[in-house]
Amino acid sequence: MALNVGDYRISLDTRDPQANLYFVSHAHSDHTSGVRKSHRILCSEITRDLVEQRVKYSIDLAPLPSGARMLNSGHMFGSRQLLLEPENGSTILYTGDYQMQKSPAAEEIEISHADIVIMDSTYPFVNVTFDDREEVIASIQSYIRDKGRFGSILFGAYAMGKAQELVRICNDMGISPLVDTGVARMNRVYSNHGMRLDYTVRDLAAGVGERDFYETVWIASTHNMEKVKQYVADLNNRIFTAVATGFAKMMRFGTDVQFALSDHADFSQALQYLEICEPKYVYTCGSGAATFAKNLKAHGYEAAPSKLTTNVASLLAGYSKN
Ligand SMILES: [Zn+2]
Repeated sequence: MALNVGDYRISLDTRDPQANLYFVSHAHSDHTSGVRKSHRILCSEITRDLVEQRVKYSIDLAPLPSGARMLNSGHMFGSRQLLLEPENGSTILYTGDYQMQKSPAAEEIEISHADIVIMDSTYPFVNVTFDDREEVIASIQSYIRDKGRFGSILFGAYAMGKAQELVRICNDMGISPLVDTGVARMNRVYSNHGMRLDYTVRDLAAGVGERDFYETVWIASTHNMEKVKQYVADLNNRIFTAVATGFAKMMRFGTDVQFALSDHADFSQALQYLEICEPKYVYTCGSGAATFAKNLKAHGYEAAPSKLTTNVASLLAGYSKN
């Protein structure tokens, strides 16, 4: 999706070939397809540094166009929304992935009034509701305390975002977890930007060390879970496996336990967001866009799934501006 604003055609988390500016809301790979060496990129410095770890080349950040601002989205460290205030005075806010409840490893969300909101639809269903974040974190810590007496605990997670959140959750209970090299690489970017994380790195390819840990917490990239299980088995130690994701509300993972710790807003949080934002129109985007728009309409909002390309002028047509 792209927005035409003045001299700019701004791609929103996608690879629009006609764009001359690419907004990257955050570093998760499903939002970074617009990143190319030749592209002018708009994102936070944290996002740039995280993405550079993956693409292996330097990214030059473009200056913000006049009338544009970035706001924290609360989804992960460095994640931003894009607020556009074109000269005609009507404002447009693109959320990217966002989260209303403060994460221990992300900046708190900022919400602005906007005439039009283009909104993420990861959890579009009215009946999927997340428990209070503090309660979920308390139950994770209680599980670590209980099972940690009998063996190691392995959390499989995205290497950036969820992994650092889990490190912080461990640190808050005085535990410095083991992490794989992929997670450690991202941890260093977090630390460079002032997010304190205590952890120890283990290179899974190097095998079990002489002075290795026994009962401990592991936080590893999901694709490394089997390797960690083998690593711990080589120590003749028991291991409990876990994931922490909002999708735990909707599906089963093959782990001993799953915690519904989401970095996205659920439907009720989307309503909270819109109450503050007070938009005249909501465009929904992402795989749940049609369902999300339908459910928002049932709650009194003018809403529709976004089209691939959206021109600001056409966004503003069709309703009166007060
Ligand atoms: Zn994301």
